[in-house]
Amino acid sequence: MVPEYEDFRISFSKDTHDQITEISPDIAVCGECLSDMETDPTRISYPFVNCTDCGPRFTIIEGLPYDRSRTSMKEFDLCDKCRTEYNNIFDRRFHAQPVACNNCGPGYLYFNGTKTVAGTVNILKALSLQIDRGHSVAVKGTGGYHLMCDALNNDAVSELRKNKKRDAKPFAVMFKDLIEVKNYCHVSEAEEKELVSWRRPVVILREKKPLAYLVSNGLRTTGAMLPYMPFHHLMFRYLSTGVVVLTSGNLSDEPVVAHDDEAMKTLFPVTGSLISYNRQILNRVDDSVIRIANDRPIIIRRSRGYTPAPVDVRIRTEGIFAAGAGQKNSFCIGRNSQAVMSQYIGDLTNMASCEFYRESFERLSDLFRFRPALVAADLHPDYYSSVFASDLAEKLKIPLLKVQHHHAHVVSCMAEHDLYENVIGVSFDGTGYGSDGNIWGGEFMVADTAGFSRYTHFDYVPMPGGDMAIREPWRMAFSYITKYFGPRFDYESLPLFRNIGRNKMELMNFMLSENINCPLSSGAGRLFDAVSALLGLCSVASFDSEAPVRLESVIDCSSDEYYPYTAGKTIEFGETLRSIISDMDHQDVSLISAKFHNTVARVILEVADKIRYEKDLSKVVLSGGVFQNSYLLEKSACLLSDNGFEVFTNRMVPCNDGGISLGQIVIASENSGLCA
Ligand code: ZN
Ligand code: ZN
Ligand code: FE
Repeated sequence: MVPEYEDFRISFSKDTHDQITEISPDIAVCGECLSDMETDPTRISYPFVNCTDCGPRFTIIEGLPYDRSRTSMKEFDLCDKCRTEYNNIFDRRFHAQPVACNNCGPGYLYFNGTKTVAGTVNILKALSLQIDRGHSVAVKGTGGYHLMCDALNNDAVSELRKNKKRDAKPFAVMFKDLIEVKNYCHVSEAEEKELVSWRRPVVILREKKPLAYLVSNGLRTTGAMLPYMPFHHLMFRYLSTGVVVLTSGNLSDEPVVAHDDEAMKTLFPVTGSLISYNRQILNRVDDSVIRIANDRPIIIRRSRGYTPAPVDVRIRTEGIFAAGAGQKNSFCIGRNSQAVMSQYIGDLTNMASCEFYRESFERLSDLFRFRPALVAADLHPDYYSSVFASDLAEKLKIPLLKVQHHHAHVVSCMAEHDLYENVIGVSFDGTGYGSDGNIWGGEFMVADTAGFSRYTHFDYVPMPGGDMAIREPWRMAFSYITKYFGPRFDYESLPLFRNIGRNKMELMNFMLSENINCPLSSGAGRLFDAVSALLGLCSVASFDSEAPVRLESVIDCSSDEYYPYTAGKTIEFGETLRSIISDMDHQDVSLISAKFHNTVARVILEVADKIRYEKDLSKVVLSGGVFQNSYLLEKSACLLSDNGFEVFTNRMVPCNDGGISLGQIVIASENSGLCA
């Protein structure tokens, strides 16, 4: 039977709402385009081959609606063949905005200070010569520059680290193909799925066979990715190595460099040679970073491949700007009932990052035709994002809502899972401004999307020297020991303190006893710092979270044992530390670390149990940067679900401060009545 329609109409959806979904993240080159590089006469070895299924998107967009004239492809006139494909509805390249070929599209150039090389094959030969000789090269990627060198040549990596200045973070690497990844790393099914996905993130894998030592600086994990630009595939045809370091092209903590003149100024001096192409990157994005826990991805850095895909939330977010936190910043703008998270901006601790923040806010506001009506920011008064938010609110005469950091962490996860009810919120991280003016970060709360009450927390411990105690984890070890065992403790009975020197310890003692620059912290990150330092894994950190990362990294055993602790009004770890110290004589560091992690998971279970008993709640939300630790995440989630809890963790946004703005936007929406 033929159905009867009263009315039949083709509706054109061109209002601004629908345009939001028009901006796709950037997509790795597809298989068909790769074979075009072998067979299509105008696209033989063409490094910008793309089609409707693949290619750059967000990084080349300057405005909406998305068509070629509003992208950085507008400078390239289509040749007849490309135009025919572009206009043919049956062609794979029908309305593929960045469509291009060897005759009409952008091209690469290689420059080494004395000569400029053109022509793809010549460039690839020059590149492989540099890499094989142990030098590094700055190469323009999809969302910004990379610095590249041979990941099997320790001298090359060492030179790159030296020239990049003080950068000790583990470097991401790109493998030629999956076979090569599996030579060097353990790859589970879930990890493989992410490695080959169209997003092509960096996936943190367990090391099987070591790369050059300095790639991961002694960590037993490797941040691995597979080629995603046609150029990457081409370069492995010429390189003798099957794996290269491919780290963000920036200096220390500054944002990734995307503009050619800036690359000449800052990256060329690092490498002495540079490969660029003549199409502008309009929106900078770093490579995204994920890892797998419980067979599912957790996002550590949400950028290329994810941005600017919105997160759907149930409530109205229109007009809300959430400024994010101070570290690993990402901000968020609300359209209808969606939250559009910015790309990873980074730590707002230098001018360049703050400039990137402002630039991205303007760009995203423009692209999504966003008009702020309400601003949300972290309680911390000194974050650049908080200052930016309050200036904006003042300028536009719109309300500003301050959101507590750990509540925002918990709500970021609740929003993802559509949880609009009371939950048990567990928020563990390093630092966040607490409502009582102390530094929080080992928090148990009863929370909904509008508010929270603090149930209990890790014991407050002084941080001698403030931020210095974060950079020097041995100070936290000293502080914990002094707190629990008193200043007369025989520090020199522990190897850590024998290496520190008496003068420094006397200074610590003085600062603690006189309470000089010793802010109080309940941060779980600080406890991990202290234990890592005690075990001799990291007494001074050379990159962010080094101590806890090394502590997790040494675990290579399975154990369910745990240490004693006291869960009274607050959670005290005196007994834990005493047992760790006595274990240090005769136990392997791997087992001690596992037992310590198990202890933290036990604490989570015990407190969650109390809250369940008292408040009749059984949904537990785990969020905050500490849960990037997949051992802890898996252990806690497992213990909780075995004991009848329903466990929720971040999947779409990072559990670290990169996800804070999602929580802020939802909390602001729930409270917008109050600020009207
Ligand atoms: Zn394609
Ligand atoms: Zn063409
Ligand atoms: Fe945090």
